[in-house]
Amino acid sequence: MADDCLFCKILAGEVPSSEVHSTGGTYAFRDINPQAPTHVLVIPRRHIANAGDLGAGDGGVLAEMITTAQAVAASEGIAESGYRLVFNVGDDAGNLVPHLHLHVLGGRPMGWPPG
Ligand code: AMP
Ligand code: ZN
Repeated sequence: MADDCLFCKILAGEVPSSEVHSTGGTYAFRDINPQAPTHVLVIPRRHIANAGDLGAGDGGVLAEMITTAQAVAASEGIAESGYRLVFNVGDDAGNLVPHLHLHVLGGRPMGWPPG
């Protein structure tokens, strides 16, 4: 656990969250400020700052994050209608929380390119 990391505190149960799915290496919970009818965050249980810090040895946790996102999409009923998976990295992307998280967004049509 990283000091003063909000999502590490969520993993530790020190900050409440609304669980959607859980696996050995990942946890999925509802975004507190949803940008779509379904907006879930998938995080690794191991603290990684952001996707810019991932390396070739992180394939396992990344694959587990994707399969968790697939399970979220299925349970949320958006697997067929479609969904968007987003990693924000750094200031220009609006990255606020420095613990790796995969946004799962769906339940409405989303434009491209994003604003
Ligand atoms: P990012 O801008 O990619 O760093 O995304 C951080 C996300 O975390 C935002 O969409 C926030 O709404 C969300 N968020 C911040 N605090 C919480 C919280 N306590 N529980 C759930 N989601 C949160
Ligand atoms: Zn953390």
